[in-house]
Amino acid sequence: MSGQVFVQVRCDAEPDGPQAPPCMTPAALPDVTTLRALRTQLRSNGWHHMRSGRDICPLCWAGGHR
Ligand SMILES: [Zn+2]
Repeated sequence: MSGQVFVQVRCDAEPDGPQAPPCMTPAALPDVTTLRALRTQLRSNGWHHMRSGRDICPLCWAGGHR
C-alpha cells in the first residue's frame, strides 16, 4: 500500500460523433495529486479544460473536436 493519491483526466471529445465512443485518452502526471494542479500542468502539454467541464486532449483539440 503506497497511499499515493492518483488523479487523472480523460478526454471528453467525440471525434467520431456522438454515436461513437468518446476519445477517453487519459492523462496523469507523477506527483500531481489534485485535479486543479493536473489541469494546470496539462495545459502546457496542449490539453484544454472547457468551461463546460470537458477535458480535451491535444489531438482532439487540433482536430477541432471540442
Ligand atoms: Zn481526445
